[in-house]
Amino acid sequence: MKVAALAGGTGSAKLLRGLSRLDIDLSVVANVGDNVWMYGAYVCPDIDVTCYTLSGIADSSRGWGIDGDTFAALGMFARAGLETWFRLGDRDLSVCMARTEMMRRGSTLTEATEKVRRGLGVRSPVLPASDQELETRVDTPMGDLHLQEFWVRERGLPRVTAVRYKGARSARPTARVREAILEAERVVLCPANPVTSIGPMLAVPGLRRLLADSDARVVALSPMSGRRPISGPAGKFMKALGREADSVGVAGLYSSFLDAIIVSREDEGMRRKIQALGVECEASDTLMRGPDDELRLAKELLRL
Ligand code: GDP
Repeated sequence: MKVAALAGGTGSAKLLRGLSRLDIDLSVVANVGDNVWMYGAYVCPDIDVTCYTLSGIADSSRGWGIDGDTFAALGMFARAGLETWFRLGDRDLSVCMARTEMMRRGSTLTEATEKVRRGLGVRSPVLPASDQELETRVDTPMGDLHLQEFWVRERGLPRVTAVRYKGARSARPTARVREAILEAERVVLCPANPVTSIGPMLAVPGLRRLLADSDARVVALSPMSGRRPISGPAGKFMKALGREADSVGVAGLYSSFLDAIIVSREDEGMRRKIQALGVECEASDTLMRGPDDELRLAKELLRL
């Protein structure tokens, strides 16, 4: 079965680990909205967490970076006078620098990612949603911040008044993303922040249309449980957009192309509201505590 999975960060990585254990032809479409220029390198957190996870080198306890990484470069950056609020290990930085060098020599982000994922031994293609630079910007009382400034430097504390996807209007889905979605028999929206991980991909003109036009059944695993996300700041962003921070809110954001969603058992009572949006709804144990849950939910999504 050909499967295209739309992925953000930590929650997505867990489900991707489950999907990658199945006998399917998997392509991952990765968010680019949280990419950031840092220490002279183009850092792509969601692309990299995907590659590190699928190659088995991710630090899954921390949720980012490479297991056993060291932080010598960061220490020297600080001594040399740079602000070092964005933590990046030496090996992780090497990958970002390699990508930057390839792009400086003329590769697209897609081409550079292809080399990196092959080099790391990742079997599935990892496809940046767009090759154009697209930045998730967060409006706060302290000004307009890059998502990483908001979440990492400011620890997600400022009030969010709006979210914008800078550069989205002139971005477009890559040819490989178009092909992956249009040829898929199933599209899986991994559990990810609907506003800052899936939102930037949906903001790329034409991407929503591809999902709606694809013959694939489009299914999602909700990142919410009750009236909050399982982890991270998704609730704060959903509320800033005037959406409920629950599975009904998530289904509402995706309803123009979504066929079915798995929600947590706690949210069984939301089934009617979700069905009223034209989206089928199943309840399950949606928490991925380890490999068994990851595999179980991957299978449930392909059966849904
Ligand atoms: P974040 O909001 O900055 O963390 O951005 P991500 O795209 O990395 O979001 C991770 C999302 O995955 C969050 O909204 C979590 O609620 C969700 N998530 C994390 N762990 C799990 C899990 O075990 N199961 C499910 N269903 N969702 C999860």
